[in-house]
Amino acid sequence: MFSQQMYTLGSRRSVIREIFEYGKIRSQQIGAENVFDFSIGNPNVPAPACVNETLVKLIQTMDSTALHGYTSAQGDQGVRAAIAGNLNARFGTRFTANHLYMTVGAAASVSICCKAVAQPEDEFITFAPYFTEYRVFVEATGAKLVVVPPDLDSFQMDFDAFQGLINPHTKAVIINSPNNPSGVVYSKETIQQLCGILEQKQKEYGHPIYLITDEPYREIVYGDIEVPFLTNYYKNTFVCYSFSKSLSLPGERIGYVAVGYEMEEGDKIYAAVCGAGRALGYVCAPSLFQYLVKECVGQTSDLSVYKQNRDLLYNALTGYGYTCVHPDGAFYLFVKALEKDAYAFCERAKKYELLLVPGDDFGCPGYVRVSYCVKTSTIQKALPAFQKLAEEYK
Ligand code: PLP
Repeated sequence: MFSQQMYTLGSRRSVIREIFEYGKIRSQQIGAENVFDFSIGNPNVPAPACVNETLVKLIQTMDSTALHGYTSAQGDQGVRAAIAGNLNARFGTRFTANHLYMTVGAAASVSICCKAVAQPEDEFITFAPYFTEYRVFVEATGAKLVVVPPDLDSFQMDFDAFQGLINPHTKAVIINSPNNPSGVVYSKETIQQLCGILEQKQKEYGHPIYLITDEPYREIVYGDIEVPFLTNYYKNTFVCYSFSKSLSLPGERIGYVAVGYEMEEGDKIYAAVCGAGRALGYVCAPSLFQYLVKECVGQTSDLSVYKQNRDLLYNALTGYGYTCVHPDGAFYLFVKALEKDAYAFCERAKKYELLLVPGDDFGCPGYVRVSYCVKTSTIQKALPAFQKLAEEYK
């Protein structure tokens, strides 16, 4: 016999992957230039020069066995110290290397944090729309994911609904800002309100409630938007970061967990993070890319293309009659489907070679995600298809 839970996960791919795979087949059939693949969050902007320069330098100057060898399980000390220093300089925090744990990207960071704190009967709360994999990470620990329904007007947090769901079994709250799939960024006031409720509930229930903040899009914001740094607002915070989007390195798998420097029993929790990484079999994050991020921390790819894409797509789509919240960050547009069933709408979109992702698995039926980390020329070419699709519904 085998695990039914794992079989289900493996045989039913994520809807995003499903459409991405369809896009690859379709590209072979009709040519990639004729497929408008808005399915996946694979950055289309090249990594900054620092990445290739550092790779060459590391290969030429570092001892090969050290470069490609195992590092400490929690990551190289110098790498962690460099990241801690960078966070402290940018956000006025007080991290040391001993708060940092290097991971294979944000997905691993979140799953490690869930595993580090989960006990039987625990509940993790998240706000819809949410990154689909949270359900997988939470349920793999044996805990339950509780979803706060979306506020369809603003896609901000619905605090009344949240207060109705938080209870003594709540172990952690997972948030993601800038948000995939809505593009919404939580303001300082929103964060203060959330943290106020968590403080009060911790006291009332007599146990910590952790805040797991998933931040692979931290640097991808448009205009004068501030993304509050959560450990400055709430002690029991885990920051889950990844260089996948900021340095355009999603396939290289590198990120970290930063355990709040004022977390209650922080040393023990950090040990639990190390234990979770061990139990999940991570051993250590890729050594080459650990050394690389030490040199490139604080840099980003040229993110200006995403703003250009956002403006182009948002203005055109709303002009054609689509409705969607104006995204302040990340690289997704979350559009109301033009019929109730978002799957049916995405199927219709395929007629025009438009590959969109239904919002159902993000906890938001009736909406679709359009991932605009593509070439601007692809968007330009796809606009008539969006327009024709909208006309079908008039
Ligand atoms: N969290 C969110 C909100 C994401 O959008 C993604 C990837 O798209 C991840 C986590 C996983 O990121 P990584 O590639 O760093 O594992």
